[in-house]
Amino acid sequence: MSRILIVEDETRIASFVEKGLKANGFATRVAGDGESALGLVRAGEYDLVILDIGLPGIDGFQVLEELRQKRPALPVVILTARDSVGDTVAGLEGGADDYITKPFRFEELLARVRLRLRGSRPAEPTVLEAGDVALDLRTRQAIVDGATFDLSAREFALAEVFFRHPGQVLSREQLLSQVWGYDFDPGSNVVDVYVGYLRKKLGKRRIASVRGMGYRFER
Ligand code: CA
Repeated sequence: MSRILIVEDETRIASFVEKGLKANGFATRVAGDGESALGLVRAGEYDLVILDIGLPGIDGFQVLEELRQKRPALPVVILTARDSVGDTVAGLEGGADDYITKPFRFEELLARVRLRLRGSRPAEPTVLEAGDVALDLRTRQAIVDGATFDLSAREFALAEVFFRHPGQVLSREQLLSQVWGYDFDPGSNVVDVYVGYLRKKLGKRRIASVRGMGYRFER
């Protein structure tokens, strides 16, 4: 299991990232400022650091500089506000491996994290299968009984969450946060609408409604 250190002072964002990573099988730890992040890296073993730039006390760039001196091989993905992308490019030159701008979708962050960890892990499958349906992660298409269907970006992101959690009940809130991100209105019915789209493409019985709880992808 990969261990990820999340350095983020906004608790709402930290818990959003932590929940999503845990649901995808990662072990996580949150540090709310740069000093404690450096302490944790010194004391423990992490496989990757997600690093916010705007932090109380020493900022993300200083943390990055220290990390690079002490742990040059540790992958770092920077989280930054969109209006400071210029600074972020400087951060990349300072040794970050990747960056992502806020606001972001969880799936986008997850893809970066997986990409940066790949060097030390076995390659991921490129096709996810569940019975007679499959999802091709390269072409972003669904394959149903041998026929191929195109998916929109949101349909694909939602389908990927279902394929990665077959047989599990996923709540609307989980699906919203994983596919649409933390800024989405929790009262929205967008999940139900997109489940309807996916049922049309994958087959109605494939995604079961679980009354009062959410949806379950049948194997
Ligand atoms: Ca911040």
